[in-house]
This record gives sequence, structure tokens and C-alpha cells, in this order.
Amino acid sequence: MKRREFCRTLSASVITLGLLPPSLLPHEHSSYQKVKIDRIDLFPMRYPMTGYFKFFTGPHGSAGRAAVAVKITADDGTIGWGQSVPIAKWSYETLETATVVLREYFAPVLIGRDPTDIRGAHAEMDRALAPGFTTGMPISRAGIDLALHDLTGKLSGRSLAQIWGKPKGGPLTLSWTVNVTSLDDIGSVMDEGKKRGCRHFNIKVAPDPEFDVALAREVRRLSPESFLWADANGGYEPETALKAAPQLADAGVDMLEAPLRPNRISGYQALKKQGALPILMDEGVVTPIDLEEFHKLGMLDGVAMKPSRCGGLISNKQQIEFCQKHNLIWLGSGLTDPDISLAATLGLYGAFGLKKPAALNGPQFLTTDVLKKPLRIKNGMAYIPEGPGLGIEVDGDKVIALMKKSGGQKWSVS
Ligand SMILES: [Mg+2]
Repeated sequence: MKRREFCRTLSASVITLGLLPPSLLPHEHSSYQKVKIDRIDLFPMRYPMTGYFKFFTGPHGSAGRAAVAVKITADDGTIGWGQSVPIAKWSYETLETATVVLREYFAPVLIGRDPTDIRGAHAEMDRALAPGFTTGMPISRAGIDLALHDLTGKLSGRSLAQIWGKPKGGPLTLSWTVNVTSLDDIGSVMDEGKKRGCRHFNIKVAPDPEFDVALAREVRRLSPESFLWADANGGYEPETALKAAPQLADAGVDMLEAPLRPNRISGYQALKKQGALPILMDEGVVTPIDLEEFHKLGMLDGVAMKPSRCGGLISNKQQIEFCQKHNLIWLGSGLTDPDISLAATLGLYGAFGLKKPAALNGPQFLTTDVLKKPLRIKNGMAYIPEGPGLGIEVDGDKVIALMKKSGGQKWSVS
């Protein structure tokens, strides 16, 4: 077999294996001149934070919300921006590993490629860094996926919604995150959200169900009409979760997200069968194939989505379509996304008509941005950015300033 033939077969195998179903693709376009990826710049940084959120505590987390801004420049000078948003306490991806993987494995295989061939880019990245149970380093990879979508939109003058042939949608109602270590703090945390116009709340629970039920009761008492969902981030053991779910339901919780680690397959099946609360997964659903399999196994009633978790927009879009087709619940959430990642997330959720309040808590916890014009977030509503690509204009000077302030260093691959 000749080399080219071998590569074609390999590429087809990657797609056949289900990592990237072809139907995920944005439309191919031939209406503009083909360009190539000329250069990829990486800017590791930490966004300053406010308030308590368990994932951003500790020696590194307390320094801020880690992110790598990804700038992809085409050979005609057009630029696309994306962002990888690793959290060491949420996944195994860190600011350091994201930077290395982007610099040494993902960026080098993309130079010289057509930036609008996003499926092809994912196949290249699969070859550069093999999948484990599912896609390798999906949070890091999302930064590339977002930047390619931005670049594709900028090249063709189309927004994300227009690329997908959808309406812009929005504005989206935001949910306020209540993560407290003392029940005494519930009122003040909720008041802060209410002051910002939020009327819906998502609570962080586990591992102590007694505390969690008291938390849920108090939040429900203070906001009787709100949509209230509890996210355990995989923090319960199966037996505890089976006991906690009916009690949380009784306390007024509407849905339970990630009660167990995703490899607790029989535990998820038991919780879904119990039926005390709709069971959502989050951690562990990376590709549409993961979702399809978990659905077939009867593990879930829906998914809490986030493009930053699952390798970017292509994968997440397909998961939403799967949920819509199979009558599964899909909630919009995020990874405390800073501006660039948040813009992409809003574009996706807006285009696909998210109905429930979105737990996009970047605006709640982050205190700065790197945009020329900030995202419009007002009275608990997030408006969908307008314009080509992600609909934002990144301020290169702000990017450099925040990177330097964080002690980061720019890396370039060309
Ligand atoms: Mg979650």
C-alpha cells in the first residue's frame, strides 16, 4: 500500500471508529479563495477571579482561571481565535499540559491545511494524539476547534448560526452557581445572583447528602419558582447517590447532574431506573459516540453540555442534535468559560434554541476579558454575539497583557 493510500485508509478508519461522524461538519464552502493555515500562536494565561468556586482553589487555581488563547492565522492574513480552558481539579488537563499538547502535537500537524476543513483537522489531531476511552485532551483540542470555526466564519463572512443554517437565537437566561461550604453563606451568594438579575440556580453537591439536602431546601425556600439543578461532579458513591436522589427531589431539586464518576455504569443505570430525578451526565461524555452508547445502556436522561469539554463545537453540536432526536434533556453549561470560549458557547446554544437556564458562570466568577467590546450580559441574560465567526473581536494587546501578568509566555508554530 502506498503512503498516500495508507493515510486515506487511516483517516477513514478514524471516522469509521466514530470519533468524528461526517455529519458533524460545518458546510463546505467554495465561494472564497482557498487559504492555508500559516501560523498558530498560543497565549497561556490566568483570568483573575472573584468568589469561591471549589475547582479554582489551591496553589495554582487560586492564581486564576487557566486558559490558552489560540490564534490561527491564514496565509491571506485572516485570523481566527479560540480558547482552551483546562481545569486541573475538574479534569486531567492543566494549563501546562494544554500548552504542551497544543504546541507540540496539535498545532504542528495543522500548518499548511485548509482551515475550513475542520473535520480533517480533527482527524489530524487524532493521529497526532491517540484517543483513550474517548478523544484525547478534549479541553485542549477545543481551543483549535473554536479558532477554526472563527476563521471559517471570518473567511466567509458568516456567523456560527449562519454556518449551520440556523437562526441566531437567544438571548439566553443565565443560572447562578451556588457553591458554599457553609449553609450560612447561601443567602448572600444568592443575593449576589439576584442583584445581577439571575432568577435560577444550580447548586454544587456531594459528597455529604445531609449538607446537600439542607442546601437544596434553603435555595428552594429562597427561590420557590426557580429552575434548580444539582451537580455532584461525580462526587457520590452509588449507594449514597441512590439515597440522596429522592431526598434531593423532596427538597425541590429539578434535575441531578453527574451524581457518579462516568465509569460507574451500573450505578447510573440504577439511578435512572430509580427515577427519583432526571439523571444528567456531564464529565465522561466527550464524543457523540459516548453519548449514543451511554444512552443505549440506559445511563441517562440527558446531558449538561459544554463545547469546551468535548473537543469543541463540532462534537457538541452533534450531541445536541442527538438529544433532540432522541428526546433527551440537554442543559447548557460550561467550564467557567472566559470570553472567547463563552462567545462560542453562546453561539451554539443560541442557534440550537436552548430552553433551560444556562449555567454559564464565567461572568459570575471572572473579572476581566480580552475583547475590544465585551459580551453583552445584562439582567441575568446573555446575548448571542453578532458578526462573522464567533462574533467577537479579540484585543491582541489585552491578550499579551494578561499573559504577561500571569507569568505566561507566547509560543508560535509556523
Ligand atoms: Mg457539571
